[in-house]
Amino acid sequence: MLIDGHGRSVSYLRISVTERCNFRCQYCMPEKPFSWVPKENLLSFEDLFLFVKVGIDEGINKIRITGGEPLLRADLDKFIKMISEYKSDIDLALTTNGYLLKETAKKLKDAGLKRLNISLDSLKPEIAKQISQKDVLPKVLDGIEEALSVGLGVKLNCVPLKGINDTEVIDLLEFAKSKDMSIRYIEYMENKFAKDKLQGLNDDEIQEIIGKKYNFKAVGRVESSPAHLFELEDGYRFGIIDPHKHDFCEDCNRIRLTAEGMLIPCLYFDEAMSIKEAVQKGDVEAAANVLKEVLANKPEKNKWSSDGENETSNRAFYETGG
Ligand code: SAM
Ligand code: SF4
Repeated sequence: MLIDGHGRSVSYLRISVTERCNFRCQYCMPEKPFSWVPKENLLSFEDLFLFVKVGIDEGINKIRITGGEPLLRADLDKFIKMISEYKSDIDLALTTNGYLLKETAKKLKDAGLKRLNISLDSLKPEIAKQISQKDVLPKVLDGIEEALSVGLGVKLNCVPLKGINDTEVIDLLEFAKSKDMSIRYIEYMENKFAKDKLQGLNDDEIQEIIGKKYNFKAVGRVESSPAHLFELEDGYRFGIIDPHKHDFCEDCNRIRLTAEGMLIPCLYFDEAMSIKEAVQKGDVEAAANVLKEVLANKPEKNKWSSDGENETSNRAFYETGG
């Protein structure tokens, strides 16, 4: 079992397999970065897998593949297969913008993927285009249909932004519900890469909008999940992820690995350690030591939730994987 420096049990590894993306979401990567990480600096799937095995042997039981856009990385299904064959009962999920899912969903499912989070901020083509700066909606909707039809569990992620997609909170809820998918609204997290002057809806504002049409009750937080869950009268559940609230980090169980091999203890903080040398040498013990050191230094809480402190992260979401 992995325990961090604050006594929290850590069992969830998020792996960003690329920082590249085919969208330019205003809140994440509004412009192409000055330079991409050169391909030769990316860890191979074999190197990433060595670390995955170390993590699983130490107690990791949930892995999420993310990015950038993870479906841009060739042969992702092979990496998924390596993991699912090593531990068949691992909770293995992927977060994607959905654009390339129509072509890949079946392969991913066959490789052992169980669940997908698909980002969907709008059901209006022009608003989806405004947010991602590309005409994406038809392909994303096709991708969602395909994922459902091959039997993958699908959850939607939406970042409601004031003056942009804030009028679609209910429409997105009803769309998700009509297809038996869950939806999570994520409060916009301030970071220095996002477009200036973006303002997200906060937890209370999202609840207020939904409350104008539906009665619902809070049903708490699934342990270690950042989402607060709510239930409509007919039993349908939706979630809100509110990193600005103080309880967000209390039972945080996750660490993040970037495509270059930086192991990051918290989405907000600059500190990180590289596993690259250890895995490229095939040194399992050194990789395990990096893991333990990063856990020992995992901060108690992010700074979005600390009143009055710097509330803009220096970390790019496309690098850490969100
Ligand atoms: N490209 C994939 C996607 O968009 O789903 C995976 C990577 S993306 C960084 C992972 C999640 O982070 C997405 O659901 C996205 O909406 C969310 N995200 C990115 N930037 C964010 C921000 N500044 N605040 C809140 N959520 C953000
Ligand atoms: Fe790309 Fe996902 Fe970031 Fe949008 S949120 S720019 S799709 S990595």
